[in-house]
Amino acid sequence: MLLMLTRRSWLAAALGAAAQGNAARPNIVVLIVDDLGYADLGFTGAKDIPTPHIDALAKASVYCTNGYVSHPFCSPTRAGLMTGRYQQRFGHENNPRYDRTDRTAGLPLDQVTLAQVLAKAGYRTGLTGKWHLGATPEMHPMRRGFREMYGFLGGGHDYFLSETEGNPREYLIPLERDGKPERFEGYLTERLSDEAAAFVKRAQVNEPFFLYLTYNAPHTPVQVPESYLSRLAHIPDDGRRRYGAMISAVDDGVGQLMTALKETGLAENTLLFFISDNGGPITVTKCSNGPYRAGKGSVYEGGIRVPFLVHWPAKLKGGSRFDAPVCSIDFFATACAAAGASLPKDRAMDSMDLLPFLTKRRKGDPHTALFWRTGGGASWAMRSGNWKLVRFQGKAAELFDLSADVGEQSDQAGTRPDVVRRMEERLNRWNSELVQPKFESPRPASAKKKASA
Ligand code: CA
Repeated sequence: MLLMLTRRSWLAAALGAAAQGNAARPNIVVLIVDDLGYADLGFTGAKDIPTPHIDALAKASVYCTNGYVSHPFCSPTRAGLMTGRYQQRFGHENNPRYDRTDRTAGLPLDQVTLAQVLAKAGYRTGLTGKWHLGATPEMHPMRRGFREMYGFLGGGHDYFLSETEGNPREYLIPLERDGKPERFEGYLTERLSDEAAAFVKRAQVNEPFFLYLTYNAPHTPVQVPESYLSRLAHIPDDGRRRYGAMISAVDDGVGQLMTALKETGLAENTLLFFISDNGGPITVTKCSNGPYRAGKGSVYEGGIRVPFLVHWPAKLKGGSRFDAPVCSIDFFATACAAAGASLPKDRAMDSMDLLPFLTKRRKGDPHTALFWRTGGGASWAMRSGNWKLVRFQGKAAELFDLSADVGEQSDQAGTRPDVVRRMEERLNRWNSELVQPKFESPRPASAKKKASA
């Protein structure tokens, strides 16, 4: 025991010292929660679902109050953050069907991932959790820059079951460890937390890591053990209690991850991003997007504005807020800047390095505008300053002043046609740089009433 403690503290001291050296490159963690409602964490206003570990993380982070994802649902958001580009530039605008043979359904192979860039820069790269960027051998995470993997290739998973026989449906496929199927036991959220903590504890001196930790909770199916439900016995609504209990399990996992970082001496010099991949699906789970209109699937704020934290105690002042609009596509350039890795130079990048802004070395907004498009043009949005333009196919544009109307209730298009015209011109210019979707989302009928991922 004494020997173990001594070795552990020696390792922590060595890792910590290496991590704090002047030129030490930070570890990088991207932590994604799936289908979380904006207002379902303590620090974003939830009164009924305690999230002490995520709240503690928020207190030690920069809270980006106008933080967005680049799409109102799963896979395209992940494609955008994994490439640092608007995913519509390369046709990744829908959820890929789970298909082990269709090479068109997933992140196109000519795209460069953040994991590839960081692996090339000497990072130990690992995925824990949901991939959802293609299921063929060529699109496997271990062919897209990840050296280690524990998780599943589809858009979601049952929390207790997997099938190793026959041809399991997407949500029942075996979990994989480094590309090989593996049975899992217990509760999936806990397994992912264990794996993430173990990944951190395998840290080596002078080898920083990149951990892409992607919980599928609290995405459907809403499944949760009694131990978490009993914590939330005060919530009268059964659906809300179950959904909240799933978040409670994720919150424990965040605590476990932060403990692993502290025990290895790496918490100070780890750059961690926290988001939900889209807004809460208000018609599917008992989530709440707070003041924001609509939810998952919509380009109103409820679909795209998410809890957004950037944590790096060595460089960023904890407990501060950053109010200019930022986006999950910015993780790419920010991580590369922190790692001293260069961005791909042969393609248009949309990602902005947020560090000069978050440290206040640079004034102003990282982006003059942010853009959204779904379904090849079914819906559109643009944010510029406090103006938000929303447009649905075949309908006139709507305009909202988010400084006075975060709920997007009062359409200003009639009174400010000048702003509408200017924004539509800019949106159309952005659109001219995009391509049409290269694959379609699976049809609801084939999804057998499972909520789209
Ligand atoms: Ca999602």
